[in-house]
Amino acid sequence: MKITDNCAVTLDYTLTDDQGTVLDSSEGRGDFTYLHGASNIVPGLESALTGKGSGDELTVHVEPDQGYGDHIKALIQKVPSEMFETDQEITVGMQFHAQSAEGQMVVVTVTEMDDETITVDGNHPLAGTALNFAVNVIDVRDATEEEIAHGHVHSGDCSHDH
Ligand code: ZN
Repeated sequence: MKITDNCAVTLDYTLTDDQGTVLDSSEGRGDFTYLHGASNIVPGLESALTGKGSGDELTVHVEPDQGYGDHIKALIQKVPSEMFETDQEITVGMQFHAQSAEGQMVVVTVTEMDDETITVDGNHPLAGTALNFAVNVIDVRDATEEEIAHGHVHSGDCSHDH
């Protein structure tokens, strides 16, 4: 069947940047299944997959505005280290959940630190990066009503509470 909204789509994929560096891949993690039409994946890839079917292979170039967004300087903040209430040692590359000015939960990444301040970046790590996906469509099935209601797929081996 062809991919339309409310299909559960199984893929394998490799994601590279424009320099050919592999940023992410389903290899070693098993195939990736998502709910089509529910913004589970970046918009540029989702629209390229619409109408494709199992067995199709495609390569998709996605600019940042159809990927993880542009890199926004205002999302980089220097925070006094004492504001971090954690027993863990903070290191560059660590990620925290934080509340944005609009009250949304966002993931911030520690990008720099010295004795007094910690620099956190609220941009997605791939913001501002053009993405190149090499995708094989492995399977397409109708999503269940429960999956559509939840906005994500349920795989047999991974249970979650709602
Ligand atoms: Zn669910």
